[in-house]
Formats: sequence, structure tokens, C-alpha cells
Amino acid sequence: MLYLHIPFCHRICPYCSFYKHTPGQTSIGRFIDALVTESAARIASSGQVPRTIYLGGGTPSMLSPAHLTKLFQGLKESIDFTQLDDVTMEANPATFDEKKAALFTELGVTRTSLGIQSFAPHVLKTLGREHTPEEASASVDMLRRTGMRSINIDLMFSIPGQSLEDWKQTLQTAVSLEPQHISAYNLTYEEDTAFFESLRKGEMSQNEDHDADHFHLADELLTQAGFDHYETSNYAQPDHHSTHNQGYWSGEDYLGLGPSAVSTVGMVRHKNIPDTAHYVSQIESIGNAIHESETIDEEAWRLERIALGLRTKEGIPLTLLDSEGKRRALTLAEEGLAEMTETSLILVQRGRALVDPIAAELV
Ligand code: SF4
Repeated sequence: MLYLHIPFCHRICPYCSFYKHTPGQTSIGRFIDALVTESAARIASSGQVPRTIYLGGGTPSMLSPAHLTKLFQGLKESIDFTQLDDVTMEANPATFDEKKAALFTELGVTRTSLGIQSFAPHVLKTLGREHTPEEASASVDMLRRTGMRSINIDLMFSIPGQSLEDWKQTLQTAVSLEPQHISAYNLTYEEDTAFFESLRKGEMSQNEDHDADHFHLADELLTQAGFDHYETSNYAQPDHHSTHNQGYWSGEDYLGLGPSAVSTVGMVRHKNIPDTAHYVSQIESIGNAIHESETIDEEAWRLERIALGLRTKEGIPLTLLDSEGKRRALTLAEEGLAEMTETSLILVQRGRALVDPIAAELV
């Protein structure tokens, strides 16, 4: 699996903690050359044969048609695209038109993940998003007309000023656009974001009951509409599950390329320099931009597998739990939060909204 980080955004959303920046004076042509060089080198040195590619960011869809073409042509020199299960690209509404949307498909993108977040204008304003609800709907239609195999709509809940009714209408509008996949994320207040600062100052607040109500409403409406709730925040129509993300959740190796990207191969984790200019100059001078490496020990690996696996509808194998964890798992089953089979622990509907605190208890 290959993840490519494109760090550019037109403007910065106040809740976002990913490494990103406006393009400023960056030479995007040089950046793409560096990314292609890094891809070829890291694929060769790791022996990885990618089965999925995921272009995230940042906003990959804001690259110009010429830059997108250059990037894909470069990648195709070291990757056989006919062997890939999935090529996902993150996109924002209002960053592409009909012609660019057609180019995505032509270049080999099979799945587009659209960062829509909400269809309520006042909620989009709070989130600092640059698109309108109408532009979001038009983007979905445009992608569908190009023959895009799979379209995901990213949505967010528990946003300050968003009522349960706003959330219901957003979910209903999303469903009416007939995407093959919907992701519904609970807003988190990440350090070093403007929202975190507002939370710290008491200008914003969190409410667990409110979060749970929004979570359950999404679960109810989306499963009624035929979506499979296969991960805490993810819902798919049959055969449209994200194979890239499923690989990540199940602990498959992946290469993360570009500034700030993280890779895990075997039990070794590498992190690239989180600085685009520095990243480009490192690739140009020494051919790699890794600035942190660590070996994951067995215990850290077990904790990660529990935290990620519990989010999926398959749950976790009981072999991941120590004796105290197994006792706690029995209690969860008695409390109606989980189901225990002979081999697995699976959270049921009531428990899924509480996945993070439950995972913390089990480890
Ligand atoms: S949420 Fe997306 S569009 Fe907004 S700043 Fe982060 S990466 Fe950029």
C-alpha cells in the first residue's frame, strides 16, 4: 500500500491537524519530481509491490491538470497500475471542474474521497470551508458523469452550532446523492489547531451525550439506506469498502511518501520530514527524507491492533488480550456493549459509539 502526501491547500481549516500549507512560493513541479523520485526509490528498497495507492493531504485535487499528469506519468514508471485494486484521491469541492474530473479517471483514479463535511451553510462557515452546499452536490454529479468507480463523501458531526436536525439533513442530502461510501467523523479537537485553542479558552465545548446521539443517528440513517457500517466512522455500499483503509486497519505494511508521511514496514516505522521545502531538498540531495525511525515493540504493536481492530465490524481476536483484558471483555459482553465469540471480541451498536474509552480499558 502506498500513501502519497500532497500538502497544499487553498486555505487552512481551523480544526485540521494534518501537515499542510498554502502553496506560497513552493515550486510544485519540483515537489512532484521529488515525490516521484522518492516513490521509485522507496518501492525498490522496501521490495513492496503496492496493491493500493492513496493520495491524501492537503488537497490533491487542487494540483493543476499538468501537475497531476506529471505525477501519474512518473508513478507509472515504477508501479504497474493494472495490478492495483484501488487508486483513491482526496478532493475538495470547488477545486475541480468537469474537465479536471474527467482527467482523474483518465489518469487511473478509481475512487475519489470528497471532503464535504456538511450541507448546512452555517456549519460550513464554522469549519472555514471554502465551498457551498450546491458546489458540493455539483462535484458529486461531475465525478459520477466521468464514470468514477467509487465516490466517498466525508462528513463531520458534533460541530459547534450544528443541531441534530442539521446533521439529519446533511446525512439525508448525502444519501440522496447516491455515493458508494460515506465517512462520518466525530469532530476531534487536535492540539495546535484554532479549534483546540477555542476549546481551551472555553469558547467551545464537548458533550459525550451529544456525540453519541449524532453517532447513532448516522448509524440508523445510513444502515437503513443500505450502507454497511464496517468501521466506526465508515459506511459502504456492497463492494465499495475502502481496500486501502482496510489494509491499514488490519496492520498491513504501507509506505508513506511526501512531507510528514509515515511508513510501517515489518516492525519498523519511519516518518518523513514535515516540511515541504526541506523534504524536496533532501530528496534532491540524498534521495530520502526520513527524519525519524523507530522499531515497534510487541506490546506497542498489540495495543495498536486492539485500538484499530475494535473499530471494525470484525472486532479483534481474543488472542490479543491478556487475562485482565479478557475479564474486561466478558464484562463488556454482560453490559451489552460487545459480543464475544469463541475467537473474537466485537463491539455491538451501543459499544461502537464508545470505542475509544473501551479500547483504553482493554489495554
Ligand atoms: S481539512 Fe483538508 S482542506 Fe482543510 S486544511 Fe486540512 S487538509 Fe486542507
